[in-house]
Amino acid sequence: MFSSLRTRLMIVYTLIIFMTIAAVDVLILNDYFRSRLQERTIAYFTYGNIAANLVSANLSDVFYISRALKQYTETTGARFLLIDNQSVVVSDGANHFTGELLTNPQVRKALSGSNSWAVYGNGEKNLQLAVPVTTGGRDSLDVVGAVLISADIGDLYASYRSLRWRVILISLLAGFLGMLFSFTAAHHLSRPLNRLIAFSRRLSRGHLGEQVYIKRNDEIGQLADTINKMSADLQRIEQNRRRFIGDVSHELKTPLASIKALVEALLMSNAPGEQYREFLEDVIGEVDRLSMLISRLLTLTRLEEERLNKEYLPLSDIVADTVRVMTPLAASHNVILENKTHMDIKVPCDKNLVREMLVNVIDNSIKYRDRAKAVNKIEITDFRTLDTYRLEISDNGIGIAGQDLPRIFEGFYRSEPSRSREIEGYGMGLSIVKRIADLHGWDVSAKSQPGRGTTIVLSIPLKFK
Ligand code: ADP
Repeated sequence: MFSSLRTRLMIVYTLIIFMTIAAVDVLILNDYFRSRLQERTIAYFTYGNIAANLVSANLSDVFYISRALKQYTETTGARFLLIDNQSVVVSDGANHFTGELLTNPQVRKALSGSNSWAVYGNGEKNLQLAVPVTTGGRDSLDVVGAVLISADIGDLYASYRSLRWRVILISLLAGFLGMLFSFTAAHHLSRPLNRLIAFSRRLSRGHLGEQVYIKRNDEIGQLADTINKMSADLQRIEQNRRRFIGDVSHELKTPLASIKALVEALLMSNAPGEQYREFLEDVIGEVDRLSMLISRLLTLTRLEEERLNKEYLPLSDIVADTVRVMTPLAASHNVILENKTHMDIKVPCDKNLVREMLVNVIDNSIKYRDRAKAVNKIEITDFRTLDTYRLEISDNGIGIAGQDLPRIFEGFYRSEPSRSREIEGYGMGLSIVKRIADLHGWDVSAKSQPGRGTTIVLSIPLKFK
């Protein structure tokens, strides 16, 4: 139950709200009581001082003093007592203690010359203040007694208690409002998350391509956008995978069907030995096609898991190596292969994979040469801009039609002339090239004009420079 984000957030919010309210309450109540007590104390000290002055001015007239103290007692509601310097009560406004010895700490302090106050009692609270009565001049003060004021401050405590109840009630109300707010806030946070969880579950059950609509500008909104993008990407990958498997099955079926037809024809006929041989050669041709297709498929699968073995190498060196290896093949088809790269730029790359990429591109340029032209040429050149190094492999072959150009890097895609002219291939060479470029973080593209020729452009970012 406590594991849900909403419950946890609610508990945390509620704790914070109640703890803050409680702390504020304690501060307010204490402050209120202290200031009320202070006001009361100051007021009584003022009376005390007036009484002490009156006493010191009329020391010889005890009767007058007693009457005055009695009057103070009646008008202020506090009890005024006069105590002599032997701690004996000379006059008591309420007449209870006259003649008795009174030695509480306030009296002692007043007789030693200083004002003091304290609150006594558990149930009934009593404030006691004492002010010294002095005679003599400014420099030689003589303490002749003390005025003790004893005041009931029960009303102060009663008003404090009633305020405390009101504050507690208001705080509880505020706390519950806070809880309501925290519930709404937690709900606001957890609801889209729950929707995202449900949506991710649907995705994992295979509902790829669906979108969840959560319009927010915060991290949850960003998470929703990312999951939506992931859903679209997964759908695309899944569609590609299905198409790929369909294409592979189709490509495998065609040679198998023709092998079967050839063998059946052989079995049914009484063909002479010469024809047998011809048929079997055709069978071998189909088997070769099959094994070439399988080896290409294996290359692609290997590239899916490939970890690059990167080194900083000058690409022109790899180009020179590849050109050396491919020249005899080009020459055997009357194609001139020229390496015109001249830049000595080192890039991090996997030598073997780059070579495989170049072999595929050069092989295409040889395959798709224009047999009608007197001279077939392949040129490899390089350029550099501020942040990119470009390698271009150009031929003057048959070229690619505009509608085919955007698709030639897809697996199994073959443009019309290559099919109709029965040029050997499975439409996988350029998808291998693209995959290797992707693995390196490079860009590969093609420019072409039918009848003019094709240029494959490899763009390598030089951000490491
Ligand atoms: P394939 O095995 O068919 O050569 P690729 O993936 O290497 O497969 O190429 C895909 C298609 O792109 C080819 O079928 C061909 O139509 C076209 N193509 C590739 N390179 C060239 C080129 N240099 N000249 C003309 N067409 C080309």
